[in-house]
Amino acid sequence: MLSKLIFRYLIILSVVLVVPSSKGSAVEPTLVNNPEIRALYDDSDTQTLGPDEVDAIRFSRRPFLRHSWVGLPVIRVCHDSGVRRSRAEQAVRFWQRLGYPLEQVRWDTGSEICRSGGMYGEVTVMMARGGVDMGDNMGITKTYFHTETGEILKAQIFVLGGYANRDRLLEHEIGHALGWVHYNRRYHLMNSHYPDGGHSTTGLTWREYLAEVTRLWQ
Ligand SMILES: [Zn+2]
Repeated sequence: MLSKLIFRYLIILSVVLVVPSSKGSAVEPTLVNNPEIRALYDDSDTQTLGPDEVDAIRFSRRPFLRHSWVGLPVIRVCHDSGVRRSRAEQAVRFWQRLGYPLEQVRWDTGSEICRSGGMYGEVTVMMARGGVDMGDNMGITKTYFHTETGEILKAQIFVLGGYANRDRLLEHEIGHALGWVHYNRRYHLMNSHYPDGGHSTTGLTWREYLAEVTRLWQ
């Protein structure tokens, strides 16, 4: 309850901070042509960071957020992603158990939102499609954020069909969609190398998320 209140306070605070400089761009209908909004794939984390931040990733003793939501997103799972509904619900429960006041999964049997790549305020789990460079990843998350404020506006999670229901894969990608970057400690959920990862959630609780949000907004 307390954390909800704090988060609500942060939302109000951040709205106050954002409005004067954002020129309303957070509600622009087109993401692509807006220079204030960028998209980032989880695997290019380090390519766009300055040397200080790269060091932070390498030597950080705890996971950290690069960007954050102002209000937590709805998690929409498109039926054609190949992710089973029970698997999606399990992944969201995983984050709820860490204290995140996420809503239940919004199960989508094929709406326009799934076809068009998701919408503001939502994380959309979709089938990997042409134009999405999966590299040798089983899943990848693309996050759209406001360049000035770092506010995440929407995220897309793409999963490869055969791996869609893999243990902890969706939990890991939801972690990216929430703003967490890779954290390469052995057995950690956010380890970038699947075989070295695990269910450890050190540093990922809701309380720690809020602390990170505060740091980002300072
Ligand atoms: Zn990852």
